[in-house]
Amino acid sequence: MRQSKFFMPTLKEAPSDAVAKSHQLMLRGGYIRQVTAGVYAYLPLGYRVLRKAESIIEQEMDRINVPEMIMPHLLPATLWQESGRYKKYGAEMFKLQDRHGRESLLGPTHEETFTEIVAKNLKSYKQMPLALYQIQTKFRDENRPRFGLLRGREFVMLDGYSFAATKDQLDEQFEDQKNAYKRIFNRAGVTVHPVIADSGTMGGKNSTEFQAPAAIGEDTIATNEKGTYAANLEMAKSIDTFKQEPEELKDIEKVATPDCESIEKLSKFLNVPATRIIKSILFIADDKKVLVLIRGDKQINEVKLGHVLDADEVREASAEELIDITGSAKGGVGPVNANWADKIIADETVKNLYNVVVGANETDYQYQNANIDRDFKVDEFADLRTANEGEPDPVDHLPLKFTTSIEVGHIFKLGTYYTDTMGADFLDNNGKAKPVIMGSYGIGVTRMLSAAVEQHLTENGIAWPKEIAPFEIHLIQMKMKDDTQTEIAEKLEKKLSSKYDVLYDDRNERPGVKFNDADLVGAPIRITIGRKASDGIVEVKRPSDDRAVEIDVDDLDAYIN
Ligand code: ATP
Ligand code: MG
Ligand code: MG
Ligand code: MG
Repeated sequence: MRQSKFFMPTLKEAPSDAVAKSHQLMLRGGYIRQVTAGVYAYLPLGYRVLRKAESIIEQEMDRINVPEMIMPHLLPATLWQESGRYKKYGAEMFKLQDRHGRESLLGPTHEETFTEIVAKNLKSYKQMPLALYQIQTKFRDENRPRFGLLRGREFVMLDGYSFAATKDQLDEQFEDQKNAYKRIFNRAGVTVHPVIADSGTMGGKNSTEFQAPAAIGEDTIATNEKGTYAANLEMAKSIDTFKQEPEELKDIEKVATPDCESIEKLSKFLNVPATRIIKSILFIADDKKVLVLIRGDKQINEVKLGHVLDADEVREASAEELIDITGSAKGGVGPVNANWADKIIADETVKNLYNVVVGANETDYQYQNANIDRDFKVDEFADLRTANEGEPDPVDHLPLKFTTSIEVGHIFKLGTYYTDTMGADFLDNNGKAKPVIMGSYGIGVTRMLSAAVEQHLTENGIAWPKEIAPFEIHLIQMKMKDDTQTEIAEKLEKKLSSKYDVLYDDRNERPGVKFNDADLVGAPIRITIGRKASDGIVEVKRPSDDRAVEIDVDDLDAYIN
């Protein structure tokens, strides 16, 4: 590719509202341009990187025998009403109406679509295990889209779905996917930690996040030095913050008054948008009152907000009743059970503990979602609650280290939530009808590209990992009017292009301009054809090298291999 014909509108300075380094560099390098908040055009450079990431994914999914397909972006509301998520998903869903007034949405994720189109067609256990995936644009009306591709409202996701006849099959599929994900991130040059995670509104129970440590990361993970323990700190942090802010606690007490028995009042009271409000709060005060606040969306109208139970009520309640109270029997928001409540209440040390489970990620309200027993075992929870940097982890008792990080992937064992609610049964080997057991698996492909940049910054640009670099070799001719240079450059272009993706800077620009742009292209190998071309010598530099190395053109092949 000749750079004179390439479209790479570079900027000297990044716009002042671009905070993340990756965002700045992608704008400055002409990888992306914002069209509207959280919505980007991928210019040729950005699109090349995206395509390379996608091709790694395709290869790794092939390797575990998971075929690719594609679902529509435009979905009928009826599909999501069937699963109960049409309301539950909340304000992040882009909704629209067609000319006949039918409600539709732009897919933020595709559990329902895959249940409808795939799970419902699996009639026999013989058709499973099966898994499929797509790489597709997703739409989420994020409250605060930011940091460029890190949090967009339109972004590219790899989403995969597995279908199993038995729990063991699901476990195997989950492991396969987990390993494939590790290979994908590894090949893309993104360092990740698989961590224990919350399941959001996905309705999952068992879930693992892939967290990429980075300065700009919106999450915090706790890891030990051996890598035998890693968890998302969302919960521990929320509790600590709450402890430190008695003012906030007063608010919560007030929430329990009848005044706040509607989401609107609660929203007004807390001064947060109704759609972003508390998911659930379990609150154990000194008088042993247990306050259960529910957002469970679907259940919001059924369960009274601010319903106050005292400890006896909770103790006497059956597990089913409690689940009813929290309105989250299946895959909803934060199942609890009597056992769990009992344990907490009985434990003097946690009597004053406020299990604050608020909001989803990304709220104005700073607390994150995580639920005891769904996301943490009770005894794990005690450790996490008090966890500070340097304290022992609950597994190997090694000192914990906190790191800010980016959630680049998330895999869930969904179980039978969708197939139960939407009715996707198969016949097992005894001829008995059972719901298909599902898993779902996602990577934020465009977010992963930002994560790669965040992890591979140089002083003036990007050092792209080899497999996702927009170009593998950047040939830079210093003087276009120098015939010897042109001759060597064209020869090299021809020869190297048969093996590598080559960008040839054939522009009539000053060396300073060329080198600045080369820093932004970030090719793993940069070959400069300059003064010594007449001696058959070129300069080779990798982004991480301090200085270029002089190489005889004839030795180039061996050197760059
Ligand atoms: P987050 O907590 O950051 O909002 P999420 O938990 O809502 O992410 P999932 O529903 O788990 O996201 O979706 C799977 C993956 O899609 C995430 O792990 C992430 O990498 C990516 N992703 C989610 N939201 C966005 C977004 N707004 N922009 C870019 N990538 C995203
Ligand atoms: Mg998340
Ligand atoms: Mg989210
Ligand atoms: Mg997630």
